[in-house]
Amino acid sequence: MTDNITRIGPRPELIAKKPTRAREPRQLAIIDQSGCTGCEACIVFCPVDCIEIVPEVGIAQFQQVVEVDIERCIGCALCAKNCPWDTIPMFSYIEGIQQAPALTMKSVCNQKASS
Ligand code: SF4
Ligand code: SF4
Repeated sequence: MTDNITRIGPRPELIAKKPTRAREPRQLAIIDQSGCTGCEACIVFCPVDCIEIVPEVGIAQFQQVVEVDIERCIGCALCAKNCPWDTIPMFSYIEGIQQAPALTMKSVCNQKASS
């Protein structure tokens, strides 16, 4: 459990059941949802299955975006390297925690970084 993350609600059961990581990573991937098309390409590359689909975000012509579960991301950067829209910046762990609320506009993980 990451100490400096404050929940904004309960985690969905399917997400809560997924394995937790062993240690805090050196960096975090944060999806900038303003550029995400919901193509799901990043999901295929994530070795720990920590990218979640956020459906019906309500952005014109797009039907979904995705979100990194920052409590399970191990910072491998594979998603960032393979996003065709270049919308997954990598941050140091602390900076990622700080940037996540601004970049993750819609969440299914019910996670919010504290300031
Ligand atoms: S690969 Fe990029 S554009 Fe596609 S769903 Fe992932 S973050 Fe969004
Ligand atoms: S950095 Fe690695 S572990 Fe984190 S979301 Fe991207 S692919 Fe998954």
